[in-house]
Amino acid sequence: MTSNPAPIWDVIVIGAGIGGLVTASQLAAKGAKVLVLERYLIPGGSGGSFRRDGYTFDVGASMIFGFGEQGHTNLLTRALADVGQHCDTIPDPAQLEYHLPGGLNVAVDRDYEHFLSDLTALFPHEAKGIRAFYDACWQVFRCLDAMPLLSLEDPAYLAKVFFKAPLACLGLARWLPVNVGDVARQHISDPALLKFIDMECFCWSVMPADLTPMINAGMVFSDRHAGGINYPKGGVGVIAEKLVAGLESHGGAIRYKARVTKVLLENNTAVGVKLASGEELRARRVVSNATRWDTFGALVDAAHTPKAETTWRRRYKPSPSFLSLHLGIDAQIVPKGYHCHHLLLERWEEMEAEQGVVFVSMPTLLDPELAPAERHIVHAFTPSSMEHWQGLTPAAYRAKKQADADRLIGRLEVILPGLKGAIHHREVGTPRSHRRFLGRMGGSYGPIPALRLPGLLPMPFNRTGLAGLYAVGDSCFPGQGLNAVAFSGFACAHRIGADLGLNPWSLPD
Ligand SMILES: Cc1cc2nc3c(=O)[nH]c(=O)nc-3n(C[C@H](O)[C@H](O)[C@H](O)COP(=O)(O)OP(=O)(O)OC[C@H]3O[C@@H](n4cnc5c(N)ncnc54)[C@H](O)[C@@H]3O)c2cc1C
Repeated sequence: MTSNPAPIWDVIVIGAGIGGLVTASQLAAKGAKVLVLERYLIPGGSGGSFRRDGYTFDVGASMIFGFGEQGHTNLLTRALADVGQHCDTIPDPAQLEYHLPGGLNVAVDRDYEHFLSDLTALFPHEAKGIRAFYDACWQVFRCLDAMPLLSLEDPAYLAKVFFKAPLACLGLARWLPVNVGDVARQHISDPALLKFIDMECFCWSVMPADLTPMINAGMVFSDRHAGGINYPKGGVGVIAEKLVAGLESHGGAIRYKARVTKVLLENNTAVGVKLASGEELRARRVVSNATRWDTFGALVDAAHTPKAETTWRRRYKPSPSFLSLHLGIDAQIVPKGYHCHHLLLERWEEMEAEQGVVFVSMPTLLDPELAPAERHIVHAFTPSSMEHWQGLTPAAYRAKKQADADRLIGRLEVILPGLKGAIHHREVGTPRSHRRFLGRMGGSYGPIPALRLPGLLPMPFNRTGLAGLYAVGDSCFPGQGLNAVAFSGFACAHRIGADLGLNPWSLPD
């Protein structure tokens, strides 16, 4: 007779980020009994929304890939549909508008040929190279889009997918160890254009082209023209809310204000979790949607942390966090036809600097119902590291928040004249807010290479060195972004489905 009660849950997922929710809802759809434990009050993590004074603000993500209708890379559409859900979306006519040093202004049009001709007009001597580079990205995308994206850790899936799409598989294997910088330099030599490609990468990978894997670039630089950028009506948080509804309608459950403090281990095998309240819950499998740094070292103690995690930490370091501004402003100052997303950098030397690049999202330009009448939302954020915000007295912290936010607003005046005098609502988030509300070490955006790595090859999949414990989210293959963590969620659910004998024989259409 065993002294421990039998597990109640098939799978416990720690965290209701998009990675955790896709894993949970996929597993529930396969028939598993799933419980999600979320430390905060709402689902979605960095892909959530919060409401204040009549505004619906996105926590982080707002430029949304993965809502296409065709192919296999439309993972948000698919994850929702698999549990009977759907988000109404609003197509964005442009991915974003760059405002770069030397007056280099480029808006990335939804239409591929339109984008190429706009960029070529600025760099006519590189016409051939521009097309060759972006066409190479399409090659990667077509390989990804030709096959159902599940767990690369499942030999049965690999065999089936190779049988279904052999050329796409070989193509992907070729691109897996490649970084964008090498491909860009094969086709392009103008230093200003190469800087632009650096910024195209930095915009979502927070790294220059030399450190950005070609697999991710293939997705981003092509899907923005294929499925396009589409904003979920009602705010980005609707995606997580609908995944929760789908999870629940398939017999799963979610508990909020349920902070996991420990993964319970027996014989080096995860058997459940302990909550901050002291409650213990058992499951056949445990998935952590917390970052790897928060999973190993906090939820799993150092003595039980697998060696592979030490290697991973040598290869990847946490990116900075952000200084974020959530503003409600007078709609009158926004010019007609203004784009929803902008990126601003005044000096190239500052691309990777503290509070260098500024990202701007104004989702009310697509969905006016996110704000009261005659108002727009401006969500602006700029990379900022925890070290600049720690060890301050409360008064010094408040003063820095105010001063840095004022400086950011001053910079935004260049692309949105009159902003300073048009603000009705203002909230400032710092790396400390990101750590507090998202439970992420240092408030980090996610892992970035600590050295030059061969593309995505060293990025870990979902299994960990501990039996029964899996990881999902942006510190797993293929990295940051909602569609990327949805990929990680599909893969994690597939691997666990294989381990629990829940997967159907055939691949999805
Ligand atoms: C400012 C900003 C802007 C961004 N912009 C974009 C964008 O435009 N487009 C895009 O695609 N991506 C964007 N991203 C990236 C994207 O939001 C993230 O990569 C993605 O949301 C990460 O999802 P995740 O599931 O890995 O983790 P998270 O979103 O971090 O979710 C993890 C969840 O786990 C919970 N949790 C953690 N520890 C515990 C614990 N011990 N117990 C219980 N619960 C726990 C957290 O509360 C959280 O809800 C942006 C991110 C930021 C911060």
